[in-house]
Amino acid sequence: MMNPSCIECGATLSGRSDKKFCSDYCRATWHNRLYRKSVSDQSPVTRILRQNYAVLTRLLGSGRHRADRRHLEQWQFNPAYCTASRRDPLGRRIYSCYSYTYRLTLSGGLRILKA
Ligand SMILES: [Zn+2]
Repeated sequence: MMNPSCIECGATLSGRSDKKFCSDYCRATWHNRLYRKSVSDQSPVTRILRQNYAVLTRLLGSGRHRADRRHLEQWQFNPAYCTASRRDPLGRRIYSCYSYTYRLTLSGGLRILKA
């Protein structure tokens, strides 16, 4: 009977038969590569929108509804991408990023209107 081998490096495994990795290092390497692949499989637009969504979530999570331009740049919010846009009754452009609705300020900041 053949001994099972590590699915990352191919080393022969001993001990429990349900083991898939020879070490924590191999387990981490394997999972990291899987995660990187799933991230790189997303289109660039999806990645940007997810990053924007993460920034909005983080902002609200810290109890704020506004961010200035400097913070948006620091957090890599990309104002050129949104999931929808429309105008409010005053003619101002309102943007959506999935469930969030926000407005961009004249100074390049952002204000969340609805989460
Ligand atoms: Zn291994």
